[in-house]
Amino acid sequence: MNETAVAFEAALTAALGHALRHISADDDLPVGPTVSLAAMRARMDVALGDAGVDPVVVVDELVAATRGGNSRSVGGRFFGWVIGGSLPAALAADWMTSAWDQNAGIYAISPAASVVEDVAGKWLKELLGIPATASFAFVTGCQMAHVTCLAVARYALLERVGWDVNRDGLAGSPVIRILTSTEKHGTTPRAIRLLGMGEGNIASLAADAEGRLIPAELEKALEREQGKPVVVVLQAGDLNIGAFDDFATLIPLAKKHGAWVHVDGAFGLWAAASSRYRHLLAGAELADSWTTDGHKWLNVPYDSGYAFVADAAAHRATMSQRSAYITHASEGRDQIDWTPEFSRRARGFATYAALRQLGRRGVAELVERCCAHAAALVMRIGALDGAEMLWRPQINQGLVRFLDPAEGAGEREHDAYTDRVVAAIVATGEALFSGTTWCGRRAMRVSVSNWQTSDADVERVVACVKGVLERMRG
Ligand SMILES: *Cc1c(COP(=O)(O)O)cnc(C)c1O
Repeated sequence: MNETAVAFEAALTAALGHALRHISADDDLPVGPTVSLAAMRARMDVALGDAGVDPVVVVDELVAATRGGNSRSVGGRFFGWVIGGSLPAALAADWMTSAWDQNAGIYAISPAASVVEDVAGKWLKELLGIPATASFAFVTGCQMAHVTCLAVARYALLERVGWDVNRDGLAGSPVIRILTSTEKHGTTPRAIRLLGMGEGNIASLAADAEGRLIPAELEKALEREQGKPVVVVLQAGDLNIGAFDDFATLIPLAKKHGAWVHVDGAFGLWAAASSRYRHLLAGAELADSWTTDGHKWLNVPYDSGYAFVADAAAHRATMSQRSAYITHASEGRDQIDWTPEFSRRARGFATYAALRQLGRRGVAELVERCCAHAAALVMRIGALDGAEMLWRPQINQGLVRFLDPAEGAGEREHDAYTDRVVAAIVATGEALFSGTTWCGRRAMRVSVSNWQTSDADVERVVACVKGVLERMRG
């Protein structure tokens, strides 16, 4: 080993040990964070000395300072929000990505980082049912994937009416209207805001009892906006119940009115990988753009989202950046032609590794396993004394609610009680759930996206919730 390797070895070996201790299922560690803000600050906020510190000491002390300050979202009993873990191959490839430390903005710096995106992008399109001719970009997450896709929508819609947004900006341009449902994720309005299209131009249309945008509502809105450039944003898996809009009806309707259709499929698009759930996405292949995440259901470490655009030329025209000092590829993929970033992490490696570890069947099994565990958790918790199932999972998301046993308790009391039960479950350290408000009522979200969640985890968590409910009834 040469001197450079020696200089790195000690720090990396220390990190490997700490990582394995964090990841390996230590059943008795609390799933949620346990540290107070004051304690976390006191531990982290050491003096930045004049003299540097030995790398191993830095790593050891960093890990010691984080104790209780991270969620154990890498394990099988974390069901909050929609958060996946990391597959072994994906985490290892992510480490190699840091070791290689490539600026994956252009082909010339790293042909490997460029070609791995070409290949992983092709695999993703196949798995997700997106047309093979669509372009794509590897970005930080679904939020930036929305920004990427909606920037292309903005460019393409305005180009159709003779307005060059790249040259002339938005001041004085025709207004673009955005039609979506009340069940949209907050990242859509934020993307619209960042792109200067104005949140005030979003119309949130009514959804039915199953969270699906009502076609007649969209039709009325499209007629109202006749003659204006319009983006329609549809959901493949909404955050509360994993609802899928009726793509086969809505997309042709939107297209008839000349609208651009964007699909937010942050986790739901993965249903396409399973023959059992693929029908939920029927017609989604007709959209103009799609977004999803790698860091949720695919179990790639964080910093992994994907944008796909049917009109590759419009995508490139929106994003491409040419500079005289850069060596541009004539054949290979320059990632800056497709992403909003310039210097960037070579994030294709981790996705490539995750997909290879799982294979097609493995991805389908991951999706089906998570859905089965979500159904078991929701139905079994919902059947407990003092609990009620609000939404039986169609995919990997469901809702339960807890009823205040006090005499005469009404909806308000049940809402408050539900929040108290969720907090009490989290306080046991056995599992982590998050709350939400759905159809005007507080609920506990049950979201299963981790490849590690097992039957034993489900048993343990149901027993934990049963115990909490019994204790709270006294
Ligand atoms: C998580 C999520 C997003 C945002 O994705 P990020 O990866 O956090 O940027 C958008 N839409 C839906 C439906 C989501 O669940």
